Amino acid sequence: MSNERVRCLIIGSGPAGYTAAIYTGRANLSPVLYEGIQPGGQLTTTTEVENFPGYPEGIGGTELMDDLRKQAERFGVEIRTGIATAADLSKSPYKITIDNEKVIEADTLIISTGATAKYLGLEDEKKYAGMGVSACATCDGFFYRKKIVAVVGGGDTACEEATYLASLASKVYLVVRKNYLRASKIMQERILNNPKIEVLFEHNVAGLYGENGVEGVHLVKKLGQPDEERYDVPIDGFFLAIGHKPNSDIFKPYLDTDETGYILTEGATPRTKVPGVFAAGDVADPHYRQAITAAASGCKAAIEAERYLTEHSL
Ligand code: NDP
Repeated sequence: MSNERVRCLIIGSGPAGYTAAIYTGRANLSPVLYEGIQPGGQLTTTTEVENFPGYPEGIGGTELMDDLRKQAERFGVEIRTGIATAADLSKSPYKITIDNEKVIEADTLIISTGATAKYLGLEDEKKYAGMGVSACATCDGFFYRKKIVAVVGGGDTACEEATYLASLASKVYLVVRKNYLRASKIMQERILNNPKIEVLFEHNVAGLYGENGVEGVHLVKKLGQPDEERYDVPIDGFFLAIGHKPNSDIFKPYLDTDETGYILTEGATPRTKVPGVFAAGDVADPHYRQAITAAASGCKAAIEAERYLTEHSL
């Protein structure tokens, strides 16, 4: 294994990673950024981004990430392809293994590895990706104004997404596999009192259908029970809200996380409990999960990294 020493290592290429790269690049920290599992991050899986400030006409998710990448390159950031496969944060410099072969020693580390939305695992979710299947109502809900959508899940996220979608769509089906909602009481009440939302308890999704995009969902009521029933419901959009998995596994032995795996940081800062190691974006944010909030935390992490290097004369 060959080792390389860098002053600032950034892992992940979503809005948090690229923003951290832009700021640390401009501050002459010679940052190295590894793109991670999904180059460009979750935004590359969505079509149009209409709520990122500065784009009055909206912008494609991939285009936005390409722009952020170019902006980072302009400030000399070295952007590399590779996935962080192991970490040793027991002492500085911190050691990160890339693709199981190369070890990078970093004086500061910015973890911006994001979170991955969970999917049901149906073939149709892939088939209709970007054609009616979404895991983010705030991102894509606008395209379903006056249309019919289904949301899968029974937690707070599903209820929040269903409520949001009901403000745009003409009808929202909430597909819940159990006979109760896991969401908080207040969210449940909001759902059950919304005339546009119909909760389908004890329902599972068997698949989707449609010629040029989602046109309907195959549902199974009381799966595996004697009175199991299968039927189709026409819909235009299919939203997953069955949880996210933060990409924090390799850091868990060294950092505090919540029970889902989101990295815990000090108050509103991106500081983790390891000095010089910062967490930015969705990997540390179970609440907002927006491109703009991720970008903002990437900026904070960069400023913190710069201060840390100065304070420690590194
Ligand atoms: P949760 O884990 O709380 O809920 C996931 C939901 O998806 C559950 O209803 C679960 O069903 C369902 N689900 C999981 N897998 C499948 C599957 N394969 N098929 C069908 N359904 C499935 O995740 P959330 O994202 O909703 O919330 C995460 C955390 O964030 C929670 O602590 C939540 O309280 C919090 N949160 C708080 C908000 C707020 O306060 N405003 C807003 C959003 C989130 P089952 O119940 O059967 O397991």
